[in-house]
Amino acid sequence: MPTYNTAELRRQNRNRVFRYIYGSDTPVTKQDVAQNLNLSLPTVGQNLKELQEVGLLETQGTFHSTGGRKPRAIGVAAGVKCSIGIQLSKFHIHIVCIDLRAKVMAQLIVERDFDDTDDYFQFIASSLETFLDENSIDRTRLLGVGIALPGIPDNNRGIITLSRTLSSKDISITKLTEHIPYPCFVENDANAGGVAEWWNHQEHENMVYLSIQRGVGGAVLLDGVRYMGHHQHSGEFGHMCIVPGGQRCLCGRRGCLEAYCSTARISTDLGITREDFFEALEVGNPDYQKIWNDYLDHLAIGINNIRMVLDCDIVLGGVLAHFMAPYLENLRARLKAISSFETDGEFLKLSRYLSWSTCVGVALHFISEFIENI
Ligand SMILES: [Zn+2]
Repeated sequence: MPTYNTAELRRQNRNRVFRYIYGSDTPVTKQDVAQNLNLSLPTVGQNLKELQEVGLLETQGTFHSTGGRKPRAIGVAAGVKCSIGIQLSKFHIHIVCIDLRAKVMAQLIVERDFDDTDDYFQFIASSLETFLDENSIDRTRLLGVGIALPGIPDNNRGIITLSRTLSSKDISITKLTEHIPYPCFVENDANAGGVAEWWNHQEHENMVYLSIQRGVGGAVLLDGVRYMGHHQHSGEFGHMCIVPGGQRCLCGRRGCLEAYCSTARISTDLGITREDFFEALEVGNPDYQKIWNDYLDHLAIGINNIRMVLDCDIVLGGVLAHFMAPYLENLRARLKAISSFETDGEFLKLSRYLSWSTCVGVALHFISEFIENI
């Protein structure tokens, strides 16, 4: 057998051992790994030693023993690498740093209007450097910087076609990333949010991620694989017509879900912030209550349509998710009322990372790439 095959086999075993430990919520023993991966104890022992030597695994205490030496509890040394996610939206820049296990280590929101100029791109790069300094993030551990924005990246042509929530122009990926001295990756914001949601989920899972912010979009996971569509337009739930001839949408059509459920409707359209809206709602402002009822009615129609097509769990994310916990049951009750099939609305869940899903998801690009190559 040629030696490269042996080397490749060894790499694959090491990778399987790491992934097994990575996929476990709690630390494991050498015996657990050997048994579940059907590998011999010496093979597992050798791999654990190698992975520990390069700092990817660590001993996290011991397990109780029924006799003899207590087995070591082995877990991932999550802090050994990190990745940055940046989300660009019309009025803000969100930055997050996650560790190898997708745990958020630091986060920041900067107010700055999106602008397709070199000034803005330089501002992103300098904000990132300040963020790294202020949070004492070790740059030698940084795998890369993911950038998510409402647009469709075309990596072959090196451009991003921006959605109308930002502008209608194409922008150059090189210009966007040229001031950032780390590996960069650019992704659509809603897709990135989906990635965060189904990270470490089951292999054959079906799920929809519905992102509600100024733009409404999402992503579809079918049988554990992201479904992109023929033109990368899959998951554009915001432009599903829910009211024929209804409100004008930024896409030029009428009655789209986005025209009713963009967060602009509960913020900039009223000349207030989202925080102002929900604070006033909480103390019973009747005008806002009326708007919110109408908003939830339309959102329920949109969610019900998605559910009718795909019949799977729907995870609600984007900036709206941050405020939704107190209203989730109310929205589920609306879903129950309009569904053609019996449901308690429990298929609708709130995002794990709430309004940080997009940042986490785009940062995961580099974590995923790193794990694949262990
Ligand atoms: Zn539209």
